Amino acid sequence: METLHAALQPVYADVLRRNQGETEFHQAVFEVLSCLSPVVEKRPEYVDASIIERICEPERQIIFRVPWVDDSGEVQINRGFRVEFNSALGPYKGGLRFHPSVYLGIVKFLGFEQIFKNALTGMPIGGGKGGSDFDPKGRSDGEVMRFCQSFMTELYRHIGEYTDVPAGDIGVGGREIGYLFGQYKRITNRYEAGVLTGKGITWGGSHARTEATGYGTVFFVNEMLAARGDSFDGKRVVVSGSGNVAIYATEKVHQLGGTVVAASDSSGYVVDEAGVDVGLLREIKEVRRGRISEYADIKGSAVSFVSGGSIWDVPCSVALPCATENELPVDAAKALVGNGVQVVAEGANMPTTPDAVDLLTEAGVLFAPGKAANAGGVATSALEMQQNASRDSWTFEHTEQRLAEIMAGIHERCVMTAEEYGVPGDYVAGANISGFTQVADAMLALGVV
Ligand code: NAP
Repeated sequence: METLHAALQPVYADVLRRNQGETEFHQAVFEVLSCLSPVVEKRPEYVDASIIERICEPERQIIFRVPWVDDSGEVQINRGFRVEFNSALGPYKGGLRFHPSVYLGIVKFLGFEQIFKNALTGMPIGGGKGGSDFDPKGRSDGEVMRFCQSFMTELYRHIGEYTDVPAGDIGVGGREIGYLFGQYKRITNRYEAGVLTGKGITWGGSHARTEATGYGTVFFVNEMLAARGDSFDGKRVVVSGSGNVAIYATEKVHQLGGTVVAASDSSGYVVDEAGVDVGLLREIKEVRRGRISEYADIKGSAVSFVSGGSIWDVPCSVALPCATENELPVDAAKALVGNGVQVVAEGANMPTTPDAVDLLTEAGVLFAPGKAANAGGVATSALEMQQNASRDSWTFEHTEQRLAEIMAGIHERCVMTAEEYGVPGDYVAGANISGFTQVADAMLALGVV
């Protein structure tokens, strides 16, 4: 708390008081506020208009019951959330997460991050996030469908292409978006494609949306390396997770000449020195919905599976945490530094703990925060909304090219803002200040609403 600017300490104390027990949300707010000292000095009008207090308070928080019937005929009850955090720049935009760990504090941390991430893309989208404590793992397609239909039966009244546009996140991929969109269409009797993103190509989706977050993270790192006269060529890379973000980050690293040597899920990790086989990973994770150990079972003795453990013990020069929050603690950062890591970039949201970020940056490791590095997913969602609004469908190549340009633009914005505010080379400050000032300027213009 003492490390915050004096004007920000009461704001943060209020956040703690009003949002008790929501530790992930506290962590996300503290991370942004700790970068805002130079902004408070340079732009006192934000303090005068209580912009920072207002940004920390969601515009609307919706919590609802989600009853559904499982395959054995039993009634199950889950809890649904949608936090509509900030609409200064456009309709609320952000994914839905289905995971047993979901509670209000997780949804608020993700929604808060989303405000600044979306601003950084330069596209007209506000910030929101939602989800449920429903666990899709081990559930049949029928159960997932009935859950999604019940979830949307409440959510539909709160969303719309000009209001709030959800997408996927952990546990919500193409299958879930399909069931959610189907129920929305049925209830409203409207083919309102722009109400959800991450849709299938034949029913209003965008090429490259599935790949966008992972590809975008790698494009961002490529910009960081290029700015230093370096590239992915020949680099040894570790990507954690084996879901949507991890799979496509791995694919793009390989396309750019690097080698991803490890992949994980919550049960452990595999090391494949020949380079992780993306086709096999997709087959295990997206088709069979299996476990990472199956990768080693199929590959045989050339691949080792480590149950539990830390994937960050595997030596690499680029580390891409692409699984979940706080998955890279300080001990993992020490191991990475000890093994000579050059770059850490967050494909996931808030995967690196604050003390680990400090350790990495003090050791001179280039560090890219998730707000900047994983913004390619939401940016391509905004491209999907553009295509829906104009009833158009772009090619994969065109959409990927737009994504690459957007990531280069975000990189440029981070670098320029960090220089402007006297913290050159600090991507965390650059991302937070750039995202924050764009939203704050819009809020000033819109008055006290
Ligand atoms: P996903 O497809 O559900 O995959 C998540 C992966 O992470 C799974 O392989 C999961 O393994 C693994 N995982 C979860 N907890 C773990 C742990 N403690 N240790 C190791 N692995 C763990 O989700 P996703 O869409 O890729 O999202 C991953 C991260 O990226 C999240 O932080 C999300 O918020 C962020 N993100 C996603 C998008 C997007 O467009 N999807 C955009 C921006 C940011 P299990 O199967 O064992 O749980």
